[in-house]
Amino acid sequence: MRTTEYQDQESGRKRLGGGVVSRRAAIGLGVAGVAGLAGGASLLDWLGQWRQAEAPADIFKGDAPKGELWELWQRRGWVKEGTHYLKLGRNVQCKVCPNNCLLSPGDRSHCRNRINVEGTLYTLAYANPCTFHVDPVEKKPLFHFLPGTRTFSLATAGCVFRCLNCQNWEISQKKPEETKDPGGEELRLRPPLPATLTARQMARLSLFPEDAAAVAAALNCPSISYTYSEPTAFYEYTLDTCKAARARKLKNIVVTCGSIEDRPARELYACVDAAHVDLKGFDDEVYQKLNSGRLEPILRTLTTLKELGVWVEIINLVVPTYTDRLDTIRRMSAWIARRLGPDQPLHFSRFHPQHKLTHLPPTPVETLVKARDAARAEGLRYVYIGNVPGLEGAQTTWCPNCKKAVIERDIFAVTALHLDSGRCRFCGEVIPGVWS
Ligand code: SF4
Repeated sequence: MRTTEYQDQESGRKRLGGGVVSRRAAIGLGVAGVAGLAGGASLLDWLGQWRQAEAPADIFKGDAPKGELWELWQRRGWVKEGTHYLKLGRNVQCKVCPNNCLLSPGDRSHCRNRINVEGTLYTLAYANPCTFHVDPVEKKPLFHFLPGTRTFSLATAGCVFRCLNCQNWEISQKKPEETKDPGGEELRLRPPLPATLTARQMARLSLFPEDAAAVAAALNCPSISYTYSEPTAFYEYTLDTCKAARARKLKNIVVTCGSIEDRPARELYACVDAAHVDLKGFDDEVYQKLNSGRLEPILRTLTTLKELGVWVEIINLVVPTYTDRLDTIRRMSAWIARRLGPDQPLHFSRFHPQHKLTHLPPTPVETLVKARDAARAEGLRYVYIGNVPGLEGAQTTWCPNCKKAVIERDIFAVTALHLDSGRCRFCGEVIPGVWS
């Protein structure tokens, strides 16, 4: 990864990256004023957001595609102007996530998907998913949202985080050009669907928002999930596809790290029905080390989702030596119960060694059981354990009133459903969720 070094003029310290600059540093970069405020941001918003940009973002200096590759990318329709960014003279600053990437002409963003071309910010991750599948909704995991249904799931390359334990680093830590090929004849996916697709065809394939919605409907999926990498990193594609899905009366699910600025979050979540949010821990220092992110924006996103009425389920991956402290898990659970309510589902998930943490052991099952017990003791009623096949009752939804099993699951399959119109069939207790 290439990075840039600049002087933080308020602290006097040098930092790597383009995401954090002081106001004076911005002026030092030649900002004569705010030339453009994409996405409807006001000057006051812009000034206020300087304070929020605290995590330095590594950017790729001079790495925007050029020449024939750039021409081909545009011809495919895989380019779109960004929606939430500032024009600062010839520089641009993305305001989609708290990395707040500041890009000079020719630079590529921290998430690898955004570039500055002559003073305009473009996304390269538009209508070009590097993968899609039909998954059970339980695989997201969402346990209180349309149980037993299938969801059309898609992702592009790129991510706003750098998690040491990333499961999908082969796509999340890649540039769009490393997963897609704009050469050859245009190949556009839409119904009727081909029986198979080769890897070569997949690399060349376009899936525009209306086509994605049509494909999901043709596959009898009542929802589309933006998942596997990070929907915030392909924000414009996510947003347009959410709108196309809504037009077809399909539901939208984001599977997200939750690191997003407030304005784009509110615009996107107005079209979202369910969110699975990775709350990766409850310690800001660990968040920075393990994920290259910050805790506060994730907590803000959770409260915003709640305020907007989006159905939310939280997952917490318990990583040995990073996020397995019981006192921290207790604090996190208490915060969830207090701010989001006791009905907020929480999934503890078992870590398996991967990516940059292959030296760590899998999470001991007893640690996960203790985490679940601690969360219940803090008042949470729906606490699950994932990634431990065969652990009895770990994925069962229990009625908090009569204590009977109302939904039983085996891996990702629903094996018993004892709900009538969202109520426990045995005692009539309301079970929170979106059931139809
Ligand atoms: S979405 Fe990408 S370009 Fe925008 S601030 Fe975040 S990391 Fe930077």
